[in-house]
Amino acid sequence: MATRIASDEAGPAVLLIFVDGIGLGPDSATNPFADAPSPALQGLLGGPLCLEQCQVGEQLVLRAIDATLGVEGLPQSATGQTTLFTGINAARHLARHVAAFPGPRLRSLIESHGVMKRAQRGGCRVVFANAFSSEYFELLEQRRRRPSVTVLSAWSAELELLGIDDLVEHRALSWDLCRDLLAKPLARPVPIIQASRAGEDLAGLASECELTVFETFLPDLAGHQRIEIGSREVVGRLDGLVAGLLRFLPDHITVVLTSDHGNFEEPWHKRHTRNPVPLLAFGPQAGRFGDIRCLTGIAPRILQTLGVP
Ligand SMILES: [Zn+2]
Repeated sequence: MATRIASDEAGPAVLLIFVDGIGLGPDSATNPFADAPSPALQGLLGGPLCLEQCQVGEQLVLRAIDATLGVEGLPQSATGQTTLFTGINAARHLARHVAAFPGPRLRSLIESHGVMKRAQRGGCRVVFANAFSSEYFELLEQRRRRPSVTVLSAWSAELELLGIDDLVEHRALSWDLCRDLLAKPLARPVPIIQASRAGEDLAGLASECELTVFETFLPDLAGHQRIEIGSREVVGRLDGLVAGLLRFLPDHITVVLTSDHGNFEEPWHKRHTRNPVPLLAFGPQAGRFGDIRCLTGIAPRILQTLGVP
């Protein structure tokens, strides 16, 4: 972290990176996080993003936190993400895990308790860093696609979603970091970048805000085998993102990286897992995240860190 850019007198700021579908598994040959090279993560943690590296320090935290939410069955995205982005146990609220996209009851939790909206109401500048194509908005309009928890959270805060122009100008990120998978179905060409460049772009966006949110569902899609990408490539991209952040992120910003449920860490099947998920925090306020045990703890702690009541 010695190379991070110094910024004078900036208040606390948080960059929340939500990585869909990564559990924190053991350091074993079957776990892609242990198997694939990840120099940035390994340099940061002293080893790969695995259970054995759990640690709590003032500027660096890795914890294995519960994503099962005390509810039987495999944890799923709609309830896990709603919990992560509101601090309310959405699986308990519905008495079951709900997959994919939130329905009316989860939407109302997001509307009333969404972390982006509360941070913004508390006076923070908030940005949702993901870029969305016009094709995506058409699908939403035609009801062929439903909005995700992050999109609903951003809408409830009345944030403008960033587009492909922003992406091309390095003022937004692609969910797949390198843009190739995002670009495939698009009518217009989009230049491909390295994942570390995406980290640099994210650092630039985060430097202008108190709360920045970025979402990647690359590992979950890979874990379900819905996209053609090797697990080493997925780890390499996540590691590249971290490398770019370590190099370019201003030093007043604390990174919080977490997930909604396991999946990718067990590549021998295509289902979610009941494994704990990583809560990785690094930066000046990281120690504040050192006692969190469950997905419910993250949104409230982010708001506390930002000084939002
Ligand atoms: Zn999934």
